[in-house]
Amino acid sequence: MLKLQELESIPEGLLELKKVSDLHKILEQPTLIHLKGEKQQPLFVSVLLHANEDTGFFAVQSLLKRYQNKPLPRSLSLFFGNIEASKEGLRHLNSQPDYNRVWPGTDHPECEETRLMQDVVNSMAKRNPFASIDIHNNTGKNPHYGCVNRLEPDFLYLSSLFSRIVVFFETPKGVQAMAMSEYCPAVTVECGKPHLSHGIEHATDFVETVLHLDEIKPHAGHQPDVEIYHTVARVTIPESNSFSFSNGETTHADDHSDIVFAHDIDRVNFTKLPANTVFGKIRPQSNARLIAWDDHERDVSDDYFSIEGENLTLSKSLMPAMLTLDKKIIRQDCLCYLMENINV
Ligand SMILES: [Zn+2]
Repeated sequence: MLKLQELESIPEGLLELKKVSDLHKILEQPTLIHLKGEKQQPLFVSVLLHANEDTGFFAVQSLLKRYQNKPLPRSLSLFFGNIEASKEGLRHLNSQPDYNRVWPGTDHPECEETRLMQDVVNSMAKRNPFASIDIHNNTGKNPHYGCVNRLEPDFLYLSSLFSRIVVFFETPKGVQAMAMSEYCPAVTVECGKPHLSHGIEHATDFVETVLHLDEIKPHAGHQPDVEIYHTVARVTIPESNSFSFSNGETTHADDHSDIVFAHDIDRVNFTKLPANTVFGKIRPQSNARLIAWDDHERDVSDDYFSIEGENLTLSKSLMPAMLTLDKKIIRQDCLCYLMENINV
């Protein structure tokens, strides 16, 4: 039975923990820890909503170590999400929904996890949160960037303190930042691949910077210095199509997958690709395809992809993000997102 645990101090062993897979020995349930700081309105930070993404955990651990012998500049509420899947090092267990798709506003049917996140939001709402940060990793090669679900100056300013690159999206629904946007400026930060020290340091410094702020507001007369991209489609591979990544020489003569991608396709993340760029190779007669979904879950593949012989090409100039080589993530989530630059 899933039940939110709420604490008001740091449990013994948390600061010394070396592996997220041992976290369940300290926290048996998803846990919200409220710590008092000099300024009262709490900063809310969530980690391990995707349990294979450990940068957030190590960032809050290193932040708490910095303040072991001095008061926090502002109160801090920390949510440790998918404890059960962290044991296995998975994004989520097959028996569980994705913990970043079940927050209030989700279209997921009501379940233990939707009730859990509602409890977290209720607990934070009554504390009048100052800002919200949800810390994630990517599995492919990506720059660090922030994601916002509202194009308001305080949201963009908050995100700009982490990175100049900001991604604005309206789907998927049920993400933490979208739920928290009802109460305070909220951002999701993507810190590159898990477990890397520069990602952990960057996230730690960002949270600490926000803890020190008196208000979330760009200086008068200044626009936040950001490049904003809007996700226009989420790309999946049909269940019935097999796929693989070539080693550079493999062609369809010796690879029987329906779709073959370049072995280093994730290097084009956040790179603007011209129309007609070859995105993958299709096995002849396989009827294989990629599916592009818009914000309303409509199949808009024909707007973005064309098939010419063996080549699966982009129909127009686009920027992919979150391309990954991790087959499990591709099946559980998606191959990538497609984005366009926007100006506000
Ligand atoms: Zn994630």
